[in-house]
Amino acid sequence: MLSSYAARVEQSRGRRHPEAPHPYRSEYQRDRDRVIHARAFRRLTDKTQVFTRRYSDHFRNRLTHTIECAQISRTIAAQLGLEADLVEALALVHDIGHPPFGHAGEKALDAVMREHGSFFDHNLHALRIVEDFEQRYAAFRGLNLTFEVREGIIKHSRDYGAQDYPQLAEYVLDLRPPLEAQLIDLTDEIAYNTADLDDAYEAHILRLEDIRAGVPLFDQYYREVERRYPDVREKLKFNETLKRLLNTLVSDLIENTRRECERAGVSSLDDVRKHPKRLASFSGEMGTTRGQLKEFLYSNFYYSEPLNSEKLQTEAVVTELFEHWTAHPESLPASYQEQAEREPIHRVVCDYIAGMTDSYILQKYAVLSGGNEEFRVKN
Ligand code: MG
Repeated sequence: MLSSYAARVEQSRGRRHPEAPHPYRSEYQRDRDRVIHARAFRRLTDKTQVFTRRYSDHFRNRLTHTIECAQISRTIAAQLGLEADLVEALALVHDIGHPPFGHAGEKALDAVMREHGSFFDHNLHALRIVEDFEQRYAAFRGLNLTFEVREGIIKHSRDYGAQDYPQLAEYVLDLRPPLEAQLIDLTDEIAYNTADLDDAYEAHILRLEDIRAGVPLFDQYYREVERRYPDVREKLKFNETLKRLLNTLVSDLIENTRRECERAGVSSLDDVRKHPKRLASFSGEMGTTRGQLKEFLYSNFYYSEPLNSEKLQTEAVVTELFEHWTAHPESLPASYQEQAEREPIHRVVCDYIAGMTDSYILQKYAVLSGGNEEFRVKN
């Protein structure tokens, strides 16, 4: 049963290039399937989430993070009576625009683009991937996704001002996105905060006592688990605790979003769009735990020594390859040389690098840095 404020598939604004309906898949199911079959989606398997694969293959990569985010999103969508296929499509596509090496790669790519008076934004890049770079169909470039999926790619995590982004005018920037898209940023956060605790603990970067001291709700659950399972080993107690924390975050998001919708008196998608603020949100109480969790991960994990040393190296790889290809466009693959006839070289090189997996960019770097003095850092 869908709720009255769901973004019902039959109300979709449709595709840029009209297509005949599929006999048994809804339009949002088709969008989800197109995302799964996209090349950029497959590449997520070899893109860093937080840990590069060199560290260990036990940890999340961008693809497994994406799948976890989709699982959480579907559960929440079902409870709120939202269009689960739209939510799933948006969760599966939400990180498709990420360059290699996670946040470090993004930061490095943005920094070199700024030297050319531009910037890198993974949401805008994701839109370019689905609208242009993916080539699977005879009748059009891109995946020809429905309006709501393209809109959600742009609007799930932040607001883009109409004045600064005239190219996004079609996405009604003055209106809020449907709840299906609003959810994604928060489910993404639930997925990575809990997964990062898990991976960092497993990697022995975070210690149990520090997590307990930094995140009081985690400590409360750990005490409960210890009472119930006094004899199991620590890792299993940790798992049980993390499961409770994840469950609480999800339940709070469901209940608070439902409450916010009631309080705002929204009874249609149009009401959701016109409401002055986003309705998908955590309660104030959970906001405190969320803040503690983030703060803990920032001060103890994301900038910790094991991650930091690798970050500097990966930033250098991105920066040096960017400089190399902007100076030597003749060494780019033919399709990018063609693109360079229509677009500035820094944009073309940025697109080329952003599409790469971690291992592909390292392979390119190893070849190009061999005996070339222009490259300073050796892998
Ligand atoms: Mg994500």
